[in-house]
Amino acid sequence: MADEDELAVTDRTTLKRIPERGHFDRDTLNAIIDEAMICHVGIVDEHGRPVVIPTFHGRDGDDLLLHGSAASRLLRTARNSEICVTITLIDSLVMARTAFHHSANYRSVVIFGVPEQITDDAEADAALNTLVEALIPGRMDEVRPNTTKEVRATLTLRLPITEASAKIRNGPPVDDEEDMDAAVWAGLLPVHTTFGEPITADDMRHDLPPSKSAANYRRPA
Ligand SMILES: Cc1cc2nc3c(=O)[nH]c(=O)nc-3n(C[C@H](O)[C@H](O)[C@H](O)COP(=O)(O)OP(=O)(O)OC[C@H]3O[C@@H](n4cnc5c(N)ncnc54)[C@H](O)[C@@H]3O)c2cc1C
Repeated sequence: MADEDELAVTDRTTLKRIPERGHFDRDTLNAIIDEAMICHVGIVDEHGRPVVIPTFHGRDGDDLLLHGSAASRLLRTARNSEICVTITLIDSLVMARTAFHHSANYRSVVIFGVPEQITDDAEADAALNTLVEALIPGRMDEVRPNTTKEVRATLTLRLPITEASAKIRNGPPVDDEEDMDAAVWAGLLPVHTTFGEPITADDMRHDLPPSKSAANYRRPA
């Protein structure tokens, strides 16, 4: 019986280069998707030309959520079409003894599929809240609920995460034996995303401290 937590590998999710770095279990995929703040969505425009656009994303169980203006070229083109979504995290720069063997420790995901528009107002509202919470955990407890007008002005897509791969590099530099005696520093330079102090908007009409979601910002929650 197939393991429901392990995605089937398809012709286009088969890693040809360094396949041992490939992962297909949902826990690994979800952890990368949830930690990343943005994704890049690849579409093919009406002239058959590829376009890749950065955008925010959220996850609802086994589905990726995307949203934007109802007038968005990106979302209108992506809707009911084959798209490719890429998500990337860089953990460290890998500095080898030779330029050739420099690399990065990274975790990335590629998802293929056909997203559908969420047309039910309640479902779209919940998806929008999930998208906000994915970026700023706790924020939906601090702001008013979305209005139906706002929900309908937003195009929200649901992409099942069924055909996807993760690729992870995690390790030290790897140099060739003939370069190991070189007097050159080698190692890892960790990469961290940090957040600064909240900056209060100039046009605030109340004298309030930063919301908890900003003051205690952590993600994933
Ligand atoms: C971090 C981040 C998060 C974002 N999150 C969202 C989101 O959640 N929802 C959303 O709808 N949009 C989001 N955007 C904006 C998004 O990248 C697009 O600008 C927007 O979706 C409109 O895309 P379009 O193809 O419909 O626009 P169009 O105006 O039709 O695009 C036409 C052309 O404009 C240029 N262009 C469009 N967007 C960009 C860009 N970001 N950078 C450089 N050139 C560009 C490209 O040349 C493109 O071919 C985000 C952008 C960033 C950087």
